[in-house]
Amino acid sequence: MGKAGDEAKPRVAVHKFSSCDGCQLAFLDLGEDLVRLAELVDFVHFAEAGPVDPEAETDIAFVEGSISTPGEAERIKRIRANTRYLVPIGACATSGGIQALRNLHDGKQWLADVYPSPEYVESLATSTGIADNVTVDYQLWGCPVNGRQVLAAVRALLWGVDPVPERDKVCMECKRAGHVCVLVSRGQPCLGPVTVTGCGALCPAFGRDCYGCYGPAENPNPDALGRRFEGLGLMREDVARRFHFIHSHREPLHGAGLRWGGGGGRGP
Ligand code: SF4
Ligand code: SF4
Repeated sequence: MGKAGDEAKPRVAVHKFSSCDGCQLAFLDLGEDLVRLAELVDFVHFAEAGPVDPEAETDIAFVEGSISTPGEAERIKRIRANTRYLVPIGACATSGGIQALRNLHDGKQWLADVYPSPEYVESLATSTGIADNVTVDYQLWGCPVNGRQVLAAVRALLWGVDPVPERDKVCMECKRAGHVCVLVSRGQPCLGPVTVTGCGALCPAFGRDCYGCYGPAENPNPDALGRRFEGLGLMREDVARRFHFIHSHREPLHGAGLRWGGGGGRGP
């Protein structure tokens, strides 16, 4: 890949799989920074912004969304073969997203409940993250990702440097920013103690509890937090729903949710 400033600009694609488009919007929300980025790279495929060439060879391919259909399972292999760096962005692409809740239940029955002719819907039994299907080079978490992280990752990859992953918990970021703890002061069931930061402790900054959209942090203790939630008055199924909301298929949130009775009570 040519370095930034070389004559041949690095080629970048943004692909969409099963998702809500919110992570692509995080790209578009970069505004002036996106215009500056477009001077450094060629966006060869980014349907939401204009260019469409899904089979193009690229230096960096960002992928939003989960693998939920047989067609997506094939398409991601071609994207992997056509790119140097493959970077899933967002909760759907990193762990299957909210749609992975069907992995815990009878997805076929859900289809039958929603669609009058479910036989016309092509769908896999599970929704999985990109790394469960092909090798990836780096991942950006969050629902949605934030533009600051996307830009930092692009910058690092363009200059041949491994991006530095976030490691602190949301709790740590709250303390540094001086936010009042919503769990202690308001009794809200905040997942900040088990969630990796990267969002700037966005939700507690506005007085609401973190629901874990950036995924699990290193060495979390979800069982202790679940007991704390029970102490706040949550029923066991509500504790399970907290752990299984966004990242139901990323450990240790997956196992914790099962232990608290999630997945139709089919605990280990
Ligand atoms: S991670 Fe969240 S914002 Fe991004 S595509 Fe999935 S549902 Fe949308
Ligand atoms: S505080 Fe939690 S739920 Fe809110 S944006 Fe950050 S990680 Fe996501």
